[in-house]
Parts: sequence; C-alpha cells; structure tokens
Amino acid sequence: MTKRVVLIGHPVAHSLSAAMQQAAFDDQGIDATYELWDRPPLGLAGAIAEVRGDDFLGANVTIPHKERVVPLVDRVTEEAHATGAVNTMTREGHRLVGHNTDVPGFKAALDSLVGRQKMPRQAVVLGAGGGARAVVYGLITEGFQRIIIFNRHLHRAEALVKHFGRSAAHMELRAMPWHASIIEAELAKSKILINATSIGLIADISPIPAEIIQPDLLVLDLIYSRTRLLRDAEETGCTVADGELMLLHQGAAAFTLWTGRPAPLDVMRTAFASARAGGVRSAEGEPAGDDGARRETERAIAEAAAGAGTSSGGGGTSAAG
Ligand code: NDP
Repeated sequence: MTKRVVLIGHPVAHSLSAAMQQAAFDDQGIDATYELWDRPPLGLAGAIAEVRGDDFLGANVTIPHKERVVPLVDRVTEEAHATGAVNTMTREGHRLVGHNTDVPGFKAALDSLVGRQKMPRQAVVLGAGGGARAVVYGLITEGFQRIIIFNRHLHRAEALVKHFGRSAAHMELRAMPWHASIIEAELAKSKILINATSIGLIADISPIPAEIIQPDLLVLDLIYSRTRLLRDAEETGCTVADGELMLLHQGAAAFTLWTGRPAPLDVMRTAFASARAGGVRSAEGEPAGDDGARRETERAIAEAAAGAGTSSGGGGTSAAG
C-alpha cells in the first residue's frame, strides 16, 4: 500500500517541502506520496482525525496551525512541549505524536552561521511567533545566557518569556519594547541577531534601520531569501545566513521520523533548489510571486497573527517602529 504524508496548512498551494520530501521518498525507494492539504482552522480537527489512518506515515503542519495542533495529538515530544508548537506528526498505531523539527532545523542553521567561531552567549531575537519559539528554545538549550526579544506587540513577547520561564530560570530572557534605539543598545551587547518576524517576507523592507547594525554581528533571517535585512547587514560587514538551511534540516529530521532512515540531504537540497528556481513558493513562507499568491500569503500571516491573540496593530508589512 502506498503510504501517505500530508502537509496541513492554509494556504499550502505550493510547497518547497513537497518537492523536497517527494524527492527523498523516491530516492530511497519508499512507496509514499507527499500531499498538500489546505485546511482552514475549522477543518483542522477533521484533518488530524484522518491522519490517524493506517495508510499515513505522518504529517507536517504549517502556518497557521502549529500551535493549534498541540491539544489535538496524543503525545508531544520535549521540543514540541517546550515550544508549544508542532510542525511534524508521526503515528503510533492510531495515536499521534507531535514533534517540533524546527528546533533541530534552527540549530543546524545556527551552527553553520557561527562556523568555527566560539558559540556566542548573547542574542537579540526579533519576533515572538511560532518560529521565534523554536529559535528561543534552540538558543536556551545551546547554552545562551542572555536573550532579548523584541516584538511589535510586546505582550506576545512577554507571553513567550513567561512560557519559557522554567527552562530559562538559569539565564536572562527578556522581552523589550520595539524601539530602534533600544534595539540598537541591545545589539551593541550581542553577537547574534535573528529575525523571526515575517517582515521582509513579502515586501522588500527590513525590520530595523541599516544604521543600527554593527559590522561584527552574525545575522540569521528565518525567511529563506536574501532579504533587505541580510543585504543591509552584509553591506555593513556582518556574516549572514537565510532560512534555507533551517527549512532543509527541519525537513530532513521529519523524513527520519517518518521512515526511520537518515535523510538524503543532497537529494533534498537539489530538489529544493530546482523547485525554487522553477518559481515554486513555499507554504512555509517563500515570498509570493504574483498578486493572487501574495494576497493568499498575506491572509495566512494575518490569520496566524489573529490566531495567536494579537490585535491587528499597524497591519500590513511595514516595519514596526
Ligand atoms: P507567526 O505568524 O507565528 O509570527 C509572525 C511574527 O512576525 C510575529 O512576531 C509578528 O509580530 C511579526 N510580524 C508580522 N508582520 C509584522 C509587521 N508588519 N510588523 C512587525 N512585526 C510583524 O509566524 P512564524 O513565527 O511561523 O514565522 C515567522 C517567519 O519565520 C516567517 O517569515 C516564516 O517564513 C519564517 N520561518 C521560517 C522557517 C524556516 O524553516 N526557515 C521556520 C519557521 C518560520 P506580532 O506578534 O506583533 O504580530
């Protein structure tokens, strides 16, 4: 029987994950298909019930469902519990296990960015959504001693800090109001800056002014394109990386969970690159190429923000200030 893996999100019209995972199944001779299920929040519980069937290896979960899915599975791993978000599900009989492979994906990206340098201990994180939760958990378990979180809606950053209260008891984890001068002061005390907001995903704008970026920073943008932030930082002399490696490694970790086999990383990387070159956008947040797709992506981001209990705030995608 052909096994099935599905990506549950809204929207999921095009997905780099599909290209990556199908190539990996085919390369490994695994008789499985990777399907895209566009399910609005009201259809989520039904989709989860369906994935319990014998023909499923598991599923991926993406925007805007990663947090909503937590109470719908039977068990969560330490990483999913700690982050409060699930991006991968596996099946144990008819029971579902929720995992968060964004965490190992982020750690792979962090290791690559830091390279041979000593792992820094202070970080500034922009954003407080699902991606930021994986980042903060990754930084805490990596041994960071000071993490400052800036978010447009401060209360969401404060909720994130509270969420990690116990695991961050030994270090300094703080939420601060989003003002360029405060961000600048914190960057001066940090070695690493991570953008986990979706600013730069659709419009070519940066979350922070170029002038406050100091030249020796390591800058990681979870968005997997060469964003304005990364271009500004590179021009200033920083070492930069986009979110491609994180996406690749979260996918590789999911593949291993479903199949019990090491992921064929090179095959996945090649499939990812050719899907991207062919204009495929990702449900995980590739900037949309046409107006219809752009509206779809904007709607999904707005819905995700609403689902996380934020007010509409400034709206749009202009940089917060
Ligand atoms: P969420 O919707 O959960 O969070 C979005 C974040 O962006 C919030 O902090 C939100 O702030 C902020 N934001 C959005 N629009 C604005 C704006 N106009 N001004 C200021 N802040 C804004 O999304 P995710 O955390 O899941 O994803 C965030 C980004 O990370 C996306 O671009 C996504 O593509 C990327 N990502 C990449 C991954 C990878 O594998 N490379 C994995 C996961 C995410 P507020 O709370 O105030 O609304």
